[in-house]
Amino acid sequence: MNLIIRQGRLLDRSGLWDIGVRGERIESVAGRINAAGAREIDAAGRLVAPTYVNGHVHLDKCNLGDVMRPNRTNSFQECLEITWEHKRGYTVDDIVARASRAIIEGIHNGTTVFRVFADVDSIGGLRPLEGVLALREKWRGIVRIEVVDFPQEAIIRDPGTFELMEEGMRMGADIVGGLPWHEHLDADAQRHIDQCFTLAKKFDKDIHMLVDDTDNPNSRSLEYLAVKTMREGFAGRVAASHCGALAAYDEVHAHKVMAQVKDAGISISTNPHISLVAQGRYDQEPIRRGVTRVKQLWRQGVNVFSSQDDVNDPYYPFGRNDQQEVAAFVCHACHMTYPDEIRAVFSFVTENAARALRLEGYGVTPGCRADLNVLAAPTIQHVLRLQQPPAWVIAQGEILAHNEIKRESKWAL
Ligand SMILES: [Zn+2]
Repeated sequence: MNLIIRQGRLLDRSGLWDIGVRGERIESVAGRINAAGAREIDAAGRLVAPTYVNGHVHLDKCNLGDVMRPNRTNSFQECLEITWEHKRGYTVDDIVARASRAIIEGIHNGTTVFRVFADVDSIGGLRPLEGVLALREKWRGIVRIEVVDFPQEAIIRDPGTFELMEEGMRMGADIVGGLPWHEHLDADAQRHIDQCFTLAKKFDKDIHMLVDDTDNPNSRSLEYLAVKTMREGFAGRVAASHCGALAAYDEVHAHKVMAQVKDAGISISTNPHISLVAQGRYDQEPIRRGVTRVKQLWRQGVNVFSSQDDVNDPYYPFGRNDQQEVAAFVCHACHMTYPDEIRAVFSFVTENAARALRLEGYGVTPGCRADLNVLAAPTIQHVLRLQQPPAWVIAQGEILAHNEIKRESKWAL
């Protein structure tokens, strides 16, 4: 075996375990593996879990925070406009350089799968997509990058975008993106969704849309997306991010829509750190959190996951491409602090995210891909409490990163 991780804890299982890796796969999980590995890691009772999956991140615009003018309002419109100033002049090399910094941060923070959104519109044309496709090539064989063909300026209100998206799919994008709530009219939002399905069926690809990313209770594209998903037989192949308006619907309508989402097999990505700063901007006090109905969706059996979304860009000045930080925000913003809730939130950045992306071989059982984090603590609660990066990050049986926290004082912890 090329790698053996010794004496780690596993999720939902008691005891300490050795994990043996041959090539890119886990070969055995046992209390004691008697063979020697070419390389061995002593987990020393820390938790070993599959690497984190970041199912929604905009790396074409990441790290613009270092060069852009300040965002004075944080309104959606100003976020768009600041991005326009840079998007017109993007080059492929510029995107790959800025995005690679975020990928490296992500690796150090234990993420090895990234679903990367690339803007496709009349402002930047296909350049952002070219940049993200080049990023995928640069990192191929190290981490997994999926490219989303994403209409950041919507489709109907930005003529020519559908044709650009079609060309983007031909160029090799993996996922059809969408932003229906940004259309001028409900009827246009529905046409937008229809056109995304036209592309998804033509190229046999999955769909990931940003849906009803607003406090406005009249923003109602999620129900149409759910019904369309059922009618087109796309169960399990559609993800929707944000869905903040769902929280603003009255209870009767919200329950109807949540049942439709469940029946349609749509996965919902909540990114609360973004919603906390983007929504509630018209509220005086109390200020709403802008987060969708995470706990209700989870309890109803909807596949909920959570993602970084933005890293140091016009929409969000923070972000470390760190799914542990994202999970901690979910715990706080969604009131998920009981043991079963903390376990669920951890699944939002691991198993559920993997299910949303339909990843093959995800887990810590023989035959799964050897994409593993040796985390910094023995339990999820302490991993999220301490917010320390994984001690070791492994992808395809190779060690990608090792983190050591060095603290010096006269007291020992
Ligand atoms: Zn986003």
